[in-house]
Amino acid sequence: MADHVLVTGGAGYIGSHACKALAAAGVIPVTFDNLVTGWEEAVKFGPFAQGDLLDRARLDAVFAEYQPIAVMHFAALSQVGESMSEPGKYWRNNVSGSLNLIEAAVDSGCMNFVFSSTCATYGDQDNVVLDENSAQYPINAYGASKRAIEDILRDFETSNGLRHVIFRYFNVAGADPDGEVGEFHQPETHLIPLMLDAIDGKRDALTIFGTDYDTPDGTCIRDYVHVCDLVDAHVLGLKWLQDDKASRVFNLGTGSGFSVREVIDHSRSVTNREVPYNEGDRRAGDCTKLVSGSSRAVSELGWSPTRSTLQQMIADAWRWHQTGHYSK
Ligand code: UDP
Repeated sequence: MADHVLVTGGAGYIGSHACKALAAAGVIPVTFDNLVTGWEEAVKFGPFAQGDLLDRARLDAVFAEYQPIAVMHFAALSQVGESMSEPGKYWRNNVSGSLNLIEAAVDSGCMNFVFSSTCATYGDQDNVVLDENSAQYPINAYGASKRAIEDILRDFETSNGLRHVIFRYFNVAGADPDGEVGEFHQPETHLIPLMLDAIDGKRDALTIFGTDYDTPDGTCIRDYVHVCDLVDAHVLGLKWLQDDKASRVFNLGTGSGFSVREVIDHSRSVTNREVPYNEGDRRAGDCTKLVSGSSRAVSELGWSPTRSTLQQMIADAWRWHQTGHYSK
């Protein structure tokens, strides 16, 4: 019988791609998801245990039923803007929910934990190379909530021996090239899917959030990584823990930054369509530039991102956009 891995948020964008990669690697992904932002239709690669991270009894029952060898914890609220207007939601759902999950894992004897963290934990640091040793000064409640969970993991390693791999994601984009799963948020707030919606008239023009940043073209710069490359790193992270290696933090980005205007230009050339957009105010909580300055995941984990060109990410997102979508 293959081992089980508990995948929280397995019905969401990144979690569903991780389930596919885990199944391909020979483990059974058990999705734990409350379906607040996830889609039951995205749970295709293993069993589904519906539940909420704030429900400790439900968590205990799921750990007892499946006895997972590891947890991959994707479930979280992840909108920077919302986190600034409703911080309580982020602290309760992300931090209290994660604490419940961590305690349930430890109490059930599941001592391997892979955690989705974010470059938003670094905050806005001008001219600093963002590697894993960079100071973490989040400027939004989303990043602050993720940094707090990193701290909780370190404390539970000290107290209980819970071993962890923390991945700090840069901007995740693209979709499964087979079209089995893809990105679909309701409401959508992310740049590339919003842009594709604007391109084919599914919504109004894209608004560029701020054109007065201290960057060459005045718009924010981000480091985009293909979701399939990103989840490959998680499979390697699981192996890292199974090989008894020490808890470790890895940035997951490519080291190349693209401005919002550059993403618009690439979208125009990939889709051969105009991108309707206008220029608006800055969005609260946005950092000027977030680009990974680390190759630790490549050198230590053996990660080899092969699909993370902007061209490929937009092309895969565009294919999914035209053919797939979940319905609730
Ligand atoms: N962005 C934008 N208009 C939008 C959505 C996003 O200009 O409608 C910008 C946003 O300010 C940021 C970049 O696109 O600089 C990526 O934003 P997204 O929400 O996709 O990811 P985040 O960086 O917040 O995790």
